[in-house]
Amino acid sequence: MKIGVISLGCPKNLVDTEVLLGKLNASNAQFVSNLEDADVILINTCGFIDAAKEESINTILEATKLKENSDKKIVVTGCLVERYKNELEKEIPEVDMFIDLKQEFQIPEKIGLQPKLKKPLYQNRILTTPKHTAYLKISEGCDHTCAFCAIPNIRGKHRSRPIDELVEEAKILADQGVKEINIVSQDTSFYGIDIYGKPMLWELINKIEKIDEIKWIRLYYLYPTTVNEDFIKNIRDSEKVVKYFEMPVQHSEDKILKDMMRGYRKRKIQQILEWKEKHIPDAAIRTSVIVGFPTETEKDFENMKEFIKNAKFDWLGVFEYSHEEGTPAFEKYEDIIPKEEKIRRKNEILNVQEKITEEKNRQLIGKEVEILIDGFSEEWENLPIGRIYRSAYEIDGITYVETTEPLRAGDFIKAKIKDVVDVVDTVAYLE
Ligand code: SF4
Repeated sequence: MKIGVISLGCPKNLVDTEVLLGKLNASNAQFVSNLEDADVILINTCGFIDAAKEESINTILEATKLKENSDKKIVVTGCLVERYKNELEKEIPEVDMFIDLKQEFQIPEKIGLQPKLKKPLYQNRILTTPKHTAYLKISEGCDHTCAFCAIPNIRGKHRSRPIDELVEEAKILADQGVKEINIVSQDTSFYGIDIYGKPMLWELINKIEKIDEIKWIRLYYLYPTTVNEDFIKNIRDSEKVVKYFEMPVQHSEDKILKDMMRGYRKRKIQQILEWKEKHIPDAAIRTSVIVGFPTETEKDFENMKEFIKNAKFDWLGVFEYSHEEGTPAFEKYEDIIPKEEKIRRKNEILNVQEKITEEKNRQLIGKEVEILIDGFSEEWENLPIGRIYRSAYEIDGITYVETTEPLRAGDFIKAKIKDVVDVVDTVAYLE
């Protein structure tokens, strides 16, 4: 059976797709990249905000066009289905199966295949990232109740995966050539509290650090309330955790953080930034904020802009508030801030951040850095491209490497930064 797979959304959803690919592979399915050739088109959707829902629905509709006058089957799963299964079945009858998250990993059987798995599910993953970098999903769901967020309704309560299972998976990834482990979940710094009664992220990391082939461990989706000074010191003292973390703050103003039900205030964010400056000044922080939350006034917005100017995050993403049914904010507020105004606010924040990101990249010029080679640039004569510790795969800026040395993806090299291009990227050369 020829299967074409499309994976949308976040790295956690991508891990689910990779697990599914592993199970399909154990069923002797054949993967095709051209959907025209597929007997089955499998779409793993995202559904947490308007923009993501739109992309998912458009992708489904594109697939239904390919199905016309053919025996192709279309199977759709993921967060959009978890939220809107009934509506989708009514609205898009051309789709053969809408499979919710609870049955997601039974899709091979549902399309008539008999998987012969020799190992536990997660150990059969087929990586879709370059072979030297992979995501490790350490838990599912979230116990927070952020007012704007539909994820707890979609993915349920926080469920940490056992440490031994994760270490086993990391070992298998390392055997496959993975050198960079990207730790993801909805709430990474909460890891273990549900099953071990206390935070256990560093116990997990200490075990993964013992895997020789693993060189870099990168942390995503930290939650400010579970990041304390010891956490920052642990990053400082860790041999393999890179000096980088992603921690969405969502806003800076106390009134809005309260309305967003985030459980912390501006002082906590400032404290984390102070601990970072004190213990790991060269570390890079990626964060994200939301503009246009219903109670956000022009003054709140201006204050946040000022905060971001001074906070000097290394990388920052901006989301327009999306009025999601089933969330506390949907019940309590009207979506009163016009779309154009949300876009104006977003662009203003991005303009502020662009200057900061460029300034931070310019401070690297002349510095010798370690670079993990990811591949080769299509547009720049096959120049090797990679990342330094400050950049996450496919999210932050990349580094072009000027060299005649024969490099391969997965190589670690030392090089000197010589320039910045397009604000976010850098150019390095081997001495
Ligand atoms: S931490 Fe908040 S924003 Fe993140 S998934 Fe949980 S509820 Fe949503």
